[in-house]
Amino acid sequence: MLKSHRCGDLRLTDAGQTVTLAGWLHRRRDHGGLIFLDLRDRSGLVQVTINADRAPAAHAVASQTRVEFVLQIKGVVTPRPQDLRNPSMATGDIEVTADEVVILNTAKTPPFYINEESAVDEVVRLKYRYLDLRRATLQRNIILYDRIVRTIRNFLHERQFMEIETPILIKSTPEGARDYVVPSRVHPGEFYALPQSPQQLKQLLMVAGFERYFQIARCFRDEDLRADRQPEFTQLDLEMSFVDRDDVMGLIEAMLIHLVESVALPGEASVTGKRIQQVPFPRLTYAEALARFGNDRPDLRFGLELCDLSDLFADSAFGVFANAVAKGDQIKAICAPHCAGYSRKQVDELTEMVKRYGAQGLAWLALPADVTPDRDHVRSSFAKFLSPHEFQGLLARTGAQPGDLVLVVAAAPAVTAQALSNLRLELGRRLGLMDDSVFAFCWVTDFPLLEFSAEEQRWTAVHHPFTSALDEDWERLESDPGSVRAKAYDVILNGWEVGGGSIRIHRRDLQNRLFTQLGIDEETQQLQFSQLLDAFEFGAPPHGGIALGMARLVALFAGAGNIREVIAFPKTATASDLLFGAPSPIAAGQLRELHLRTVDE
Ligand code: ASP
Repeated sequence: MLKSHRCGDLRLTDAGQTVTLAGWLHRRRDHGGLIFLDLRDRSGLVQVTINADRAPAAHAVASQTRVEFVLQIKGVVTPRPQDLRNPSMATGDIEVTADEVVILNTAKTPPFYINEESAVDEVVRLKYRYLDLRRATLQRNIILYDRIVRTIRNFLHERQFMEIETPILIKSTPEGARDYVVPSRVHPGEFYALPQSPQQLKQLLMVAGFERYFQIARCFRDEDLRADRQPEFTQLDLEMSFVDRDDVMGLIEAMLIHLVESVALPGEASVTGKRIQQVPFPRLTYAEALARFGNDRPDLRFGLELCDLSDLFADSAFGVFANAVAKGDQIKAICAPHCAGYSRKQVDELTEMVKRYGAQGLAWLALPADVTPDRDHVRSSFAKFLSPHEFQGLLARTGAQPGDLVLVVAAAPAVTAQALSNLRLELGRRLGLMDDSVFAFCWVTDFPLLEFSAEEQRWTAVHHPFTSALDEDWERLESDPGSVRAKAYDVILNGWEVGGGSIRIHRRDLQNRLFTQLGIDEETQQLQFSQLLDAFEFGAPPHGGIALGMARLVALFAGAGNIREVIAFPKTATASDLLFGAPSPIAAGQLRELHLRTVDE
């Protein structure tokens, strides 16, 4: 090795030792006869002093260095004088007094500062990703990613799980997205599909008798990208035989608690500093989550729950509400504590927000802080139209107290849910209720098995078509498909879906029945899914599993606002790799070999 020690490891206890270090020049201060260098390697920084009197040759070399040069330093670990110690630096009690400085390589001036976390345009960061990755935050995030993966592997291996690889060149494995396809050279006109997940493969591993499988698996989905999606991503993919929902959920819950308790951030002795809000994780059914929070991934760090007022206003003299209820709309409210003082402008902003989600408007009611509210002494857009009974009912249901602001949306149920769930999050942000040091996990269960796609004019699987219905719901699969609940579960963390899974179908007749209900005819079933359907006839055990999105999980641990901040080489929102310049055209000869011709449209 060109080094005997790591820069960031040196401590007062190493004083007197002769060490050889190698790394990058992070910062340089030149005081003439005395040059200070901060040398950086993966472990951190250490200060090196080069004295012209003590080491004239080293001093001459050091005076030619610039940031990001690659240096080798030989020297002695020396305690710093008390008043020059730097408590904000892990190595701040010592410095290395250099005897020799070797330039291992020079560096051009980088396109942005490596030694400070100044804002840099993301296009530039992605083009020079290898430099961006040198900066402190990304170093920390990538190291954290590794620690989380390592902890997961250990946790699962200790519980008899086996890590088994599955192919990348395979056939369509539907998870509701478009496939990436790869043309075959040896089979003209034929294509592989990249797996949207190893779903069918892990199920086949259960048929094969492995009982407990996991993989840190690559998945590929050609979707219209949203801010927090990547066309290829990694998930912790897991499958177990002879289990029920509680077994899978219990295992994952224990693993997540273990991660929070044992994964340390680099430079920190113990834990991530996160506190889990509630153990065991609260469980909500899909219907309950929708009713109380307006969505199926509630951020449980705070309350501000939705409150249904539809029946209260069904016969109201206030036509807007009564008519809404009559045509099947839902009237729901959120009570924002201590917000009665919101200005007209603030309320208008919130109104604009709910309109973006399709609501016509936002009815509001501000309760004065100091007097017992009565209908005639509140500021409100609608209170004067309410009967005393309706007004009192509204206060009782929402639990509104003096000083609170009640916000009401009346719209089609889906619109009300979307508008108010987003309003709730906005209020949570404004009121400072989203504490990043708190981890509020929960499970959402009993999702619908199917949803009707207006676009395709057929029923589609909400999770994926291998998910089993609740035992008692199978009988309604054909007669009332929308009411059938799935043996599916999602794990949510602070409003993010970090994973989802289900108990699977393991009988051919049931799988055929579900495919048929999804409008897949028998011939197509055989063509696309014979591998799984056939396997189910050879003693498939009951089984189920889950997958957790690694990047999102790590981002939440890292406190990163975006999954690109924890992925070494991410793609842009338009699925481009700016470092390699992918995708890109390929040579004519390569196209010919693949039996492909491109067309200009
Ligand atoms: N294959 C599913 C997914 O990728 C997860 C699972 O059901 O295990 O979302």
